[in-house]
Formats: sequence, C-alpha cells, structure tokens
Amino acid sequence: MIPPYSRARQADRRHVWHPFTQMQEWLAQEPVLVTSGQGAWLQDDRGHRYLDGNSSIWTNLHGHQHPRLSRALHTQADQLAHASFLGLTNAPAALLAERLVSLVADTALTRVFYSDDGSTGIEVALKMAIQYFQQNGQPQRTGFAAFDHAYHGDTFGASSLGGISLFHDRFAAHHFPVTRVSGLDDLERLDNAGIAAVVIEPLVQGAAGMRLWPPGLLVRLQDWCRRRGVFLILDEVMTGFGRTGRMFAYQHDEGVQPDFLVLAKGLTGGYLPLGATLTTARVFDGFLGRYEDLRTFFYGHSYTGNPLACAVALANLEVFESENTLGRLVHKIEVLREQLAGLQSLGCVRAVRQCGFIAGIELGQPNGEPFDWREQIGSKVCQAARRHQLLTRPIRDVIVLMLPYCVTDAEIGLAVTAIRRAALEVVPCAG
Ligand SMILES: *Cc1c(COP(=O)(O)O)cnc(C)c1O
Repeated sequence: MIPPYSRARQADRRHVWHPFTQMQEWLAQEPVLVTSGQGAWLQDDRGHRYLDGNSSIWTNLHGHQHPRLSRALHTQADQLAHASFLGLTNAPAALLAERLVSLVADTALTRVFYSDDGSTGIEVALKMAIQYFQQNGQPQRTGFAAFDHAYHGDTFGASSLGGISLFHDRFAAHHFPVTRVSGLDDLERLDNAGIAAVVIEPLVQGAAGMRLWPPGLLVRLQDWCRRRGVFLILDEVMTGFGRTGRMFAYQHDEGVQPDFLVLAKGLTGGYLPLGATLTTARVFDGFLGRYEDLRTFFYGHSYTGNPLACAVALANLEVFESENTLGRLVHKIEVLREQLAGLQSLGCVRAVRQCGFIAGIELGQPNGEPFDWREQIGSKVCQAARRHQLLTRPIRDVIVLMLPYCVTDAEIGLAVTAIRRAALEVVPCAG
C-alpha cells in the first residue's frame, strides 16, 4: 500500500499547528514530510534524502531505526506497552534506573524519578528542591537562581527559569520570580538565604545559540552552592549522553557533585519522549516518613515510567558499549573541528563554536555587525542547505550542527559543505 502522503499534506495544512513555527510562513511553503529514517539520514515523500543535521532537535544519538533500539521497542510492545507507575513497577523502568545510576557513579546521585520530557524533568527537580527544604528545616529556601540566556523548557515552571527574551518575556507576569544571574560574580553578591537551588546547563547553553561557558565555571558554581547549602541542578537535557564528548557534560570537570541531574532528549536515542530527574540519598531520605507526616512527593504523570520508552532507553545505553560510541566519537569530533575551521574565513561567519560534537555557526555581516533579525538569515540559510542535502534549524542567526554519532567522516564534510554553500547563496560573503 502506498501511504497517502498527499492526503497527509492536506491534513497538515488544514489542521496542524506546529511548534516554534510562524504558521503563516508555514502555509506559504511546501513542508518536508519525513517518511523514513536510516542511520544519519532522513527521507521525504518525494524521494529526497537529507542528513539529519540537528539530530531531530537534539534527540537522536546512534542514528535512525537502529536495529538494536527498534528490536527492544518491538519486543517490549509485544509484552507490555504501559501500566501505571503509581504504586506499581515494571522491569524496564527499574533496570533503567539502575543503569542511569551506574553512569553517574562519580556522584552521590542514586535515585531516579521519571517524567515525560526535559521540561517536566526540570519541574520535578524544582518541586523536589522546594519540598525538601520545606520539610527539612529551611522552609525559607523557596527561590531559584538561573542564568541569563538559559533555556530549561516551555512548561510554566521551566520557562520561569528561562532567560531568552524572545521566548520568555511575553509570559513574564505569570512566571514565578527567579533570581537572574549573568555569571559567578552576580552569585557572589547574592543573598542566598531564600535560594533553594541554582539551575545551569553545564558547558554549553544550547537554545542560547550554543553559548559556551568559560572553563572552570561549573566547579566554581559547585563550590558556591556547597558553601551556602544551596542545591545545584544540572540540566543535561541537551548535553547528556555523549554530545560533549563525555557521557555527561559535568564529567569534563573534577569533583562536580550535583544534587539533581535532569535528563531527557537523547535518553531514548530519539525514539520516545522520556525524562529522568536523578537525585541523592540525602534528598530522597528527606521525603521519608509515615503517610500522615505528609512528606510524600505528590507528583507524577500518566505515562511516568513508561515501559516502551524505558526499554528503548536501556537499548540506547547498551549501544554506547557495544559500539564503543564515546571512543569512536573522539576522532569524529576532530574531523568536525577540522571541517569547521574552513568556515572561519567566510566573511559572513562571525564565530564558530564547538563543544564536543555540538557546533554553532554564528552568521553576521562582513563588517562584524549582526544581521537584522527580521531578515531571518539563519532560517534562509537552513532552507538553502536543504538543497545540499542537509536538514537543520537555526537559533536566530546561529546555524546548529549536531549530527547523530553514526555519521562518517565524509558525511561530516558534506554537512559543513552544505552550510558553506547555503551561506554563500543566501548572503554574498566570500572570505
Ligand atoms: C530541550 C531542552 C529542554 C526541554 O526539553 P523538552 O523535552 O523539549 O521539554 C530543557 N533543557 C534543555 C537544556 C534543553 O535543551
């Protein structure tokens, strides 16, 4: 049977509202309708093939339709798709928790609380932090500190932490108050008495346009938190699972001891939505008591601990070992570095930022000024890159390149070349 793709296109036009998308523009264009994936490639209904240059919005790790992940999903689906995690358990979720804890054996994190995605994983950490202090002698610690340009998700709690004006300002009146800091100097000046936790995306702020933190910042932040008894929440929703070259971004530094670690996106290798909030025995123990003590964490979602998602996540983590993913990534990170170096000389490239296998290519005018944001240069360059077999999305005028780990050296070259050609087509910027 030939899938009715033209009917699907019509249905999309008439009835769908897409995320982070100006629908007026969407309706004026022909969308890419993705029909299948294989390794680092996606194919559309018209037979075009594209390299998945942003790993399907930062979720895919080992490539599309990886046999091991697909098999795990099928096997689990034949057995149990879902049963409530409220008062029941299931093997994939329990075993995944054990596996995740083993990956962070360099920390005191020993407990896993599941949720649906990165945003809800953040919500869990925030609520746990507040409730912990409430019932353990410091009820005044109810506030949070978060950084300029931060992005922690779109639900109201997570977006309260956000520091990207384009996304967050409109809702500011309804956000809970957050102590906004630009760096450690601000923190040093801060009265921390009412602060429950500081939240940070370690090493690199993704949605800010792949903005890199100065080296050593995380260690100093962790010292600040320890000395003041403030929790440290690490949002590794984007940086987790090898993206930065280590399994987790915090592992680039010695001795970082988070109180919460939030994971999602790559957790299932790009198969299914799943969030996990890891925390310590200290936090966990702070919720124990008799029922009537009212120390229960009253929080959960219908699909918490979903067996399908957890089974795929387990297979996803096994692939790191069976394919020596991190070991093989070392070379690919170097290839990416060499390829990106060739872009620096283009007049329209203001900066090239790389952290592990993550890259952000910031475009601007040859005189060093940014483009007028209304021109949507980044978006036009990404549209043009499609003609050169690369799919990706910009963050304003920063072109994101975050390939699945299964790409070959040649495919890395193809991706960077596509960006170069597309940039040259959209803006006259010969170097
Ligand atoms: C994507 C992202 C989130 C939100 O995750 P969702 O799964 O989209 O809700 C949170 N934090 C960071 C750093 C992210 O990149």
